[in-house]
Amino acid sequence: MIVAMQELATEEQIDSIIEKLVEAGVNVHRTTGATQTILAAVGPTSTLDIEEYKLLAGVLSVHRISSPYKLAGRAFRPEGTIIEFNNGVKIGGDEIPIMAGPCSIESREQIFLVAQQVKEAGACFLRGGAFKPRSSPYAFQGMGIPGLKLMREAADAFGLLAISEVMEIAQIEPMLPYIDCFQVGARNMQNFNLLRELGKVRKPVLLKRGIAATIEELLLSSEYILAGGNYDVILCERGIRTYETYTRNTMDISAIPVIKKLSHLPIVGDPSHGTGRRDMVPAMARASVAAGADGIIVEVHPNPDKAVSDGAQTLFPDQFTKLVGELRLIAQAVGRSVYANAPATTNV
Ligand code: PEP
Ligand code: MN
Repeated sequence: MIVAMQELATEEQIDSIIEKLVEAGVNVHRTTGATQTILAAVGPTSTLDIEEYKLLAGVLSVHRISSPYKLAGRAFRPEGTIIEFNNGVKIGGDEIPIMAGPCSIESREQIFLVAQQVKEAGACFLRGGAFKPRSSPYAFQGMGIPGLKLMREAADAFGLLAISEVMEIAQIEPMLPYIDCFQVGARNMQNFNLLRELGKVRKPVLLKRGIAATIEELLLSSEYILAGGNYDVILCERGIRTYETYTRNTMDISAIPVIKKLSHLPIVGDPSHGTGRRDMVPAMARASVAAGADGIIVEVHPNPDKAVSDGAQTLFPDQFTKLVGELRLIAQAVGRSVYANAPATTNV
């Protein structure tokens, strides 16, 4: 960490900062230039709050030069992380898997039909929520474990992997037999107790960016899971809340290359929640792949107009089929490919 002092900083102010840093257990190297003093703090600085140091008397600016997320940082695995699922599908490599399915699991008929549709279009994963974080307590809250059982059956019937959202610690154990990947939703990105528990399981976790979270906060949240020993974390950009109202959220495509630079973890784009509008989903999905996303998660329903949640942002099956074709072309243009045909069997 570098502390740049103001030109008029007094010796007393400089000494008091050195003292504070030393008390925190770091070594301080001082450089006194013609007009300005620079303090370089070396050691366990990741736990220091740089905002606190910025406010101290005589300080001009404070900069971190090492990342506060040790395990999520690119330096931990410069070559990047590739996560392999039970059926051999990988994420983080050259091949891009597509995750698709309804916002909510609604019935056996619905989940089987959509599983067939997304499989035929080229998806590797069936997505579907059984525990739904809804803004209103009166809105549909999800089918729970019976819904997950149906999703597992449908995923197995069509050779798909299954991904679903976990909202609380008590759901982790009961979900384990039915899913291949946990999803942590935007609203739970900073549910640190949940993240810590997910660090103990040996199943991949897709961690969505919080509605108002910075990229650094997303990476720090992933650090909770990694620190528990679960290194199979996938990050997800799903849009953030801004002053723009035309779209449900503002899809931060730039987060994709930023995360690729800062972290070794795979990053997935979610254009459905990123825009909230069916007509904008294909463009943002294409943009995600062009920007370097390792996967796409998209909402698809046999009849979106009848969907119990997120219908407005959900693609019709034929729109999804068309989109996958476009993504194949874009992937090729950036030296990647979309999975041609996912292996047909899974064994959770
Ligand atoms: C979802 O995937 O349906 C969902 C609720 O997503 P998010 O947490 O991004 O809002
Ligand atoms: Mn949804």
